[in-house]
Amino acid sequence: MNYISTRGTAPKLSFDDVLLAGLARDGGLYLPETWPTLSPETIRSFASMAFADIAVEVIDPFTKASIPRADLARMTHDAYSAFGDPAITPLVNLKAGTSILELFHGPTLAFKDVAMQLLARLMDHVLEKRGQRATIVGATSGDTGGAAIEAFRSSKRADIVILFPDGRVSDVQRRMMTTPTEGHVHAVAIDGTFDDCQALVKAMFNDHAFRDRVQLSGVNSINWARIVAQVTYYFAAAAKFGAPDKAVSFAVPTGNFGDIFAGFVAKRMGLPVERLIIASNENDILPRTVATGVYEMRGVVPTSSPSMDIQISSNFERYLFEASGRNATAVRDMMTNLARDKRFELGPIWDVLKSDFAAVAASEGDVADCILRTKNQHGYLLDPHTACAVVAAEHSQASGETIILATAHPAKFPDAIVAITSEHPKLPARLANLMTDPERFDTLPNDLTAVERFVESRCRGATKAIA
Ligand SMILES: *Cc1c(COP(=O)(O)O)cnc(C)c1O
Repeated sequence: MNYISTRGTAPKLSFDDVLLAGLARDGGLYLPETWPTLSPETIRSFASMAFADIAVEVIDPFTKASIPRADLARMTHDAYSAFGDPAITPLVNLKAGTSILELFHGPTLAFKDVAMQLLARLMDHVLEKRGQRATIVGATSGDTGGAAIEAFRSSKRADIVILFPDGRVSDVQRRMMTTPTEGHVHAVAIDGTFDDCQALVKAMFNDHAFRDRVQLSGVNSINWARIVAQVTYYFAAAAKFGAPDKAVSFAVPTGNFGDIFAGFVAKRMGLPVERLIIASNENDILPRTVATGVYEMRGVVPTSSPSMDIQISSNFERYLFEASGRNATAVRDMMTNLARDKRFELGPIWDVLKSDFAAVAASEGDVADCILRTKNQHGYLLDPHTACAVVAAEHSQASGETIILATAHPAKFPDAIVAITSEHPKLPARLANLMTDPERFDTLPNDLTAVERFVESRCRGATKAIA
């Protein structure tokens, strides 16, 4: 299984290389050359299998040319051993026809742990095999950073630098990044927005000399390995509701389009899905795109669901490649227009988009109302991201079961929850010291040179440039 770039001019790579490369050298994102499919019997068998074993079945077709199945199995079991629930991603019935898929039982209480815990192990495995080191650089709107730092704390071969927008992540999110004490872990507050942080990371990847010098690798959702690790829970949850003999729907809190793209991949791999519902907050670029056929950037509005306060959904490029019949030239044109005009028209792809996805934007009022109603009527406390998905599911009637992806624990966003419900959500006991442990982080301007200098001075993988 080889991987190709959505922009068509980067070399084909193996899984190992894609894992370490993140972004393709032509600026595109990697996708497998073909989609493997799982047989109906295999999908049916997931109903009674452990999560880590389902992960092996789902991921192995993508990695088998690079990673022996027994090694993959060891890594999936190891990755999910620190989760706070034996089901890893338990399903909770909310009301008739609607269930919550709790993806927040990992070490940082966010769904990103599911992918990140495995990604860090895959990376160490590949680096070990090659006798290499790596420098991981990532941008976070809140949850990615903590999940990445937590996953790489025990890494023997990778240093990690996470850029976060100063003052725009919650205290809990910041502390998850700034309290780990390992010397190879660096949290950096950037004077800017998440999009600025993401632009800095992209610029570092596009600086090929720098990229080679520090052996740069990425863990943002542009990394294919993260997407593939998220496909597991779509299969695991749907099987519990009778897949492949019944089709379910998924409502997915969406920012960078990584999580919902994993649902699209599950569909490509043979999972029957009735509807894939994109749930956004007031940053509604995707619902606007589905409604109008025009992808148009606007300013970022801060909301109670900060991990979705995004106006560029990077992984949408992967979908555009698929929806256009894998037409890299069309993707390149759309991305050129986006860079130049901050917008592009989908043209004939619009109809394909409308047939693949429903999309709903939840206002801050909708979110508050939903959290309060759900607490009062069902005794269940939603976090604001998950609430966007409940609102979206209510607006798009599906006939079968609708599975709401719960992407964060409410205790990660206590200010919003207290304001809405007057109830202070409790952190699980295993995080008792988080709010009092000392913090350690650096602050840098929104400036590429300053950030590159910082990375090079701190990371053990950096080789000095030869004059
Ligand atoms: C990252 C995140 C999202 C958005 O996920 P994408 O893969 O970027 O679409 C939604 N909710 C929470 C809590 C997150 O941390």
